[in-house]
Amino acid sequence: MSTIHLRGPILRGPDDVVGQGWVVDGRMTYTKPSGSIDHTIDGWVIPGLVDAHCHIGLGAKGPVSDDEALAHGQRDLSAGVTLVRDAGAPSDTNWLRDDLRVPEIIRAGKHIARTRRYFRDFAVEVEPEYLAAEATRQAKAGDGWIKLVADWIDRETGDLGQTFTPEQFNAAIEAAHQAGARVTAHAFDEGSIEPLVLGGIDGIEHATGMTETTVGLVADHQVAVVPTLININTFESIVASAREKFPTYARHMQALYDRRYQTIHMAHEAGVPLFAGTDAGSAITHGRIGEELVELTKAGLSHTEALAAGCWHARKWLGYAGLEEGEWADAMVVPQDPREQVVVCQHPRAVLRRGRSVGLV
Ligand SMILES: [Zn+2]
Repeated sequence: MSTIHLRGPILRGPDDVVGQGWVVDGRMTYTKPSGSIDHTIDGWVIPGLVDAHCHIGLGAKGPVSDDEALAHGQRDLSAGVTLVRDAGAPSDTNWLRDDLRVPEIIRAGKHIARTRRYFRDFAVEVEPEYLAAEATRQAKAGDGWIKLVADWIDRETGDLGQTFTPEQFNAAIEAAHQAGARVTAHAFDEGSIEPLVLGGIDGIEHATGMTETTVGLVADHQVAVVPTLININTFESIVASAREKFPTYARHMQALYDRRYQTIHMAHEAGVPLFAGTDAGSAITHGRIGEELVELTKAGLSHTEALAAGCWHARKWLGYAGLEEGEWADAMVVPQDPREQVVVCQHPRAVLRRGRSVGLV
């Protein structure tokens, strides 16, 4: 395998800057190798980005072909994402395990939703009596996470509503924990936050319904929130298509959209751990993590904090190392200091996956 000289600087952490480093046999070293150098890359080096809410293997109509799942992963990797926390996928992507053409994927099995309370063909749909058993099943199918759909439009009330009772959420979360998996849930509605947090959940996706009353609870329990702001930006089109048939729901979604930056700002100020995720897979195309980092700055995170939410902090949260001596060279190279202008992450100069260059110039 080739030896690469990373001429740096290398940002091993937000405040841990090293002048230069080398990649030997796919791994980082800070001792100059004695052999010849095959490639030299100039620029600011950071650990590969993390897309903490991404659906490799999910398309607009549910499962996709193996070729399409591979293409999803390739687009994510080209954008600098070397680690994905999958947030539920109807296709089995286990065949991509250890495939260096795509990011490392931490799978969550299939989404678990209430019968007819989610997009058709996306999820395993269950009635309450089967929820906990399904949580155990998906926990065993995934890589340490499962994904619940905690609220969705209730066509009878014409508004968002919880899909299960607090007791049922609690039982599902306990079942997954016993099977060794952490639990996250899709939640738009205000009413989902408290039952999920008190039920012992580990993460909340979107979390548009956090309020001044519940944000302290989320912070106290250190529940990880992945806002997926580039996806929330699509609420306006949901509102437009729902306005006539479900006016209350449409107004509700509009209000959540209107205060999306305040909600995330409030969570940030309260000390809620925030992570960058795109929700690529159905409405959102893959490879847009750089845009999500910029969105997080609009919600009041500094450029360094936004970067950390999709880089150093996210890797640590998921149990992955960075660019320390001897670790895999999963890295991205950008032309300027990304702590000053995180927008530079939208155009990586190079991406390395275990020291293998993804082929950008
Ligand atoms: Zn999603």
